Amino acid sequence: MKYKTVIGLEVHAQLNTESKIFCSCSTEFGAAANTHACPVCMGLPGVLPVLNKKVLEKAILAGLATECSISEYSKFDRKNYFYPDLPKAYQISQFDKPICKSGKIRVKSGEGFKDIRLNRIHLEEDAAKNVHPEDASKNYSYVDFNRSGTPLIEIVTEPDISSGDEAYEFLSKLKQILRYIGVSDCNMEEGSLRCDVNISIMPEDAAKLGNKVEIKNMNSFKAVKLAIEFEYKRQLQMTEYGETIVQETRLWNADKLETYSMRSKEDSHDYRYFPDPDLAPVIVDKEFIEKLKSSLAELPDAKIDRFMKDFALPVYDASVLSSTRELAEYFEKTVSCGANPKKASNWIMSELLAHVDDSEKMESFIVKPESLAKLLLLVDKNVINGKIAKTVFADMLQSGDDPEEIVNKKGLVQVSDTSEIEKIVEAVIAANPQSIADIKEGKAKAAGFLVGQVMKESKGKANPQIVNEILNKCIAKL
Ligand SMILES: [Zn+2]
Repeated sequence: MKYKTVIGLEVHAQLNTESKIFCSCSTEFGAAANTHACPVCMGLPGVLPVLNKKVLEKAILAGLATECSISEYSKFDRKNYFYPDLPKAYQISQFDKPICKSGKIRVKSGEGFKDIRLNRIHLEEDAAKNVHPEDASKNYSYVDFNRSGTPLIEIVTEPDISSGDEAYEFLSKLKQILRYIGVSDCNMEEGSLRCDVNISIMPEDAAKLGNKVEIKNMNSFKAVKLAIEFEYKRQLQMTEYGETIVQETRLWNADKLETYSMRSKEDSHDYRYFPDPDLAPVIVDKEFIEKLKSSLAELPDAKIDRFMKDFALPVYDASVLSSTRELAEYFEKTVSCGANPKKASNWIMSELLAHVDDSEKMESFIVKPESLAKLLLLVDKNVINGKIAKTVFADMLQSGDDPEEIVNKKGLVQVSDTSEIEKIVEAVIAANPQSIADIKEGKAKAAGFLVGQVMKESKGKANPQIVNEILNKCIAKL
């Protein structure tokens, strides 16, 4: 019997507001413990939370960018559970009236594309953080409240994902979108993006889903992919042995590359959700939503389409150049400074990106788009050849100087003077009688060797096209 994998993801992304969701404490990462805490985010009795408007705006932007419908009426609920880093003994979240509903994200799948539907995006506060001493013999732990009340959106997909690869693609695309629209930095090392995986297997023609297993707190895309692949094999093997897959929560062991059982899973009604009486329902009008919509940056898919249409680029080029908003802007600026789009694309992909650590920081890159455009135009106008352009570019990467200045200073202008090239060709022919003999025997490689010698003699500055013409003419005469 053939089995398929059914996967749904719950992704928590931290919104990059300056202050927390229900108080004015800073959300700055890495501050000394408990320096960003107040009675509200410490959960002291009698305090009143107030919703941060920026949080609401960013959540709506995330919804608009993922084709969700935005709820004009949503509300906050208390999700009750006890944990030492949650002193209120409830987390403020959204239960039955989330801010965004039913969206979708298009991801690469095999050779084509697939829409992964989103069930919802809701707002919630993050819990504080337990800090355990490294020395296990110490019988105490600390709580750091800096994280408590940090704004999160939880993005819940429908069970539309069917492999580890698809999950990986989905997470990459989600991260790309959230960064494009500037609502989250999605920094996994700092915990700004965390993911829970729901996974079950079922016979391909079955109507009912198998028991699902939840893998919690995944903090890398690669781990998500590997955990899904491991879990598929584990569940398949159990099924083949006739064992029942229990509904449970598992964790990922990144060293052993396997999942292990943490606890049997509670259903959501165990949380005893109820409307938070301290927070008024959130009512947003159409005008407010429209205003946010018009402020939304161009999204990656739209940019890819536009690059293909306006600049006649292949889909591969358009995708690479649109991978971050900043790189796309760099490319467009280069073109607007006069560079040929395809040549600019080739140069950025093959020469420039090799020297870029973070394409979101193109603004501080030493070679400015204006200079790159100038360099490409020097090649177009036959002032320098492609090979010399690489030398000039290497200089630009070091000095940040203008390409024209480098060419003049170093005397790199291309030699197109036929009489000068003829002299070199004749000298090279005279010095390589064996190659001439080889050419006459039909060995094509020998001609390439001679071109190389001529280029070398000219210190790379000869116009390669003219070299070829003259060389062919001279050989024909022999
Ligand atoms: Zn606070």
